[in-house]
Amino acid sequence: MSDLNKNTLYSDVVICGGALAGMTLALAFIKNGFNVVMVDPKTVKDLINFDKRTTAIAEGAKNFYDTIGVWKKVKRFAEPIKIIKIKDGSSKIDLNFDCKQFEDNTNVDSLGYVLENVHLLKQINSTIEGYRNKEGLIKRIKARVVSIDSNNLNSKVILSNKMEISSSLVVACDGKHSIARNMMNIGTKSYSYKQEAFVCTILHEKRHDNIALEKFLPGGPLAILPMKKYKNMYRSSVIWSDGREVSKSRYNSSMNNTSNIESEIEDHCKDWLGKVKVDNFKALFPLELTMPKSMIENRFILIGDSAHSIHPIAGQGFNLTIRDIKSFVEDCHKRKSLGLDIGSKIFLKNFERKRILDITSLVRSTHILNKLFENNGLSVKFFRRLGLSAVSRSKIIKKI
Ligand SMILES: Cc1cc2nc3c(=O)[nH]c(=O)nc-3n(C[C@H](O)[C@H](O)[C@H](O)COP(=O)(O)OP(=O)(O)OC[C@H]3O[C@@H](n4cnc5c(N)ncnc54)[C@H](O)[C@@H]3O)c2cc1C
Repeated sequence: MSDLNKNTLYSDVVICGGALAGMTLALAFIKNGFNVVMVDPKTVKDLINFDKRTTAIAEGAKNFYDTIGVWKKVKRFAEPIKIIKIKDGSSKIDLNFDCKQFEDNTNVDSLGYVLENVHLLKQINSTIEGYRNKEGLIKRIKARVVSIDSNNLNSKVILSNKMEISSSLVVACDGKHSIARNMMNIGTKSYSYKQEAFVCTILHEKRHDNIALEKFLPGGPLAILPMKKYKNMYRSSVIWSDGREVSKSRYNSSMNNTSNIESEIEDHCKDWLGKVKVDNFKALFPLELTMPKSMIENRFILIGDSAHSIHPIAGQGFNLTIRDIKSFVEDCHKRKSLGLDIGSKIFLKNFERKRILDITSLVRSTHILNKLFENNGLSVKFFRRLGLSAVSRSKIIKKI
């Protein structure tokens, strides 16, 4: 990274947005010898104070975090999922996926891991800090990206603090409402589920036995995911998608008095978890599917929720992002070692082509799954039964 012009920084890559996707990408890039400037109006401390959610991390994402030196630091905070129970609230269909019962694979120790975003953010940041001190490969700037201008030679990014960065490539990791995507005139297709997710942490009387529950209720899916114990208390993470008004009222009432929501949650898990107490953290997330018409432009690519923001029904949005990041950084590394331009539109287009099948199949399956359970007509119940029994025979759970 150099400073030829007083107000201009020069780097290989500018990452617009430094939350989970931006920070993971930045670390993967610097591990592969790239200079990175990451820009975000929020500091890592702001993000840690704000994002108290958990993420279900699949085996592939865990392996990726292992290769970039993060997994060994977060492992002790990650609770394995050993069994996934899927229940259809209206038809009493009940499916169990046990990590020990995949007949063709004897080495599956878990079906994923539940990790608090706070730990992930802290440990990615501490790994990045190690590089900053040693090699000066990365800079995080507290500002907003306000304009992007690309030509055949480079990209020029202007920040809200008037700073200018010149780079070979700009990556937008600025979330589902990406401003950078708008700046590059990339349109989107959106679908609102007319649902919001009420998210909270619960403390409970009995052990969760590493079971994750996904219960399909008429208003939307309720997920209860096992978390690591805290101060000897059993904990789980609740992600309850439901109609906007219902979710808002759950959220509002839980801010004054948690007894209603506690007894609502107990209705679905009392036999298993015993008495439930809602912890301090509660939040609400509007749910919509947002897909850009293209992932790339000249010297520009979308990664993270800016590239695909999906329903959290299967806890797969960020896992998909990790697959994008892994593949993209590997391709950039190969290109750089051949002395080729990582901002070339042809290269970026080829990358998009390579990833599009994985992305569209996950987007479609989460969308269809949600629509299938949203509807309670008789024919839909039939297809639901058919769908679930197909899922039970497939390798999808293991794959994710
Ligand atoms: C309720 C819920 C549960 C979920 N559970 C799971 C799960 O279990 N497993 C899973 O895989 N996925 C899950 N997901 C999805 C996952 O949380 C998201 O995919 C992920 O958090 C997106 O991260 P991101 O960095 O792309 O975007 P964001 O977290 O939205 O970050 C965007 C960043 O860009 C910054 N920014 C905005 N504008 C600018 C600008 N102009 N200049 C610079 N910076 C800017 C913002 O300040 C912010 O820090 C869940 C999602 C929800 C809503």
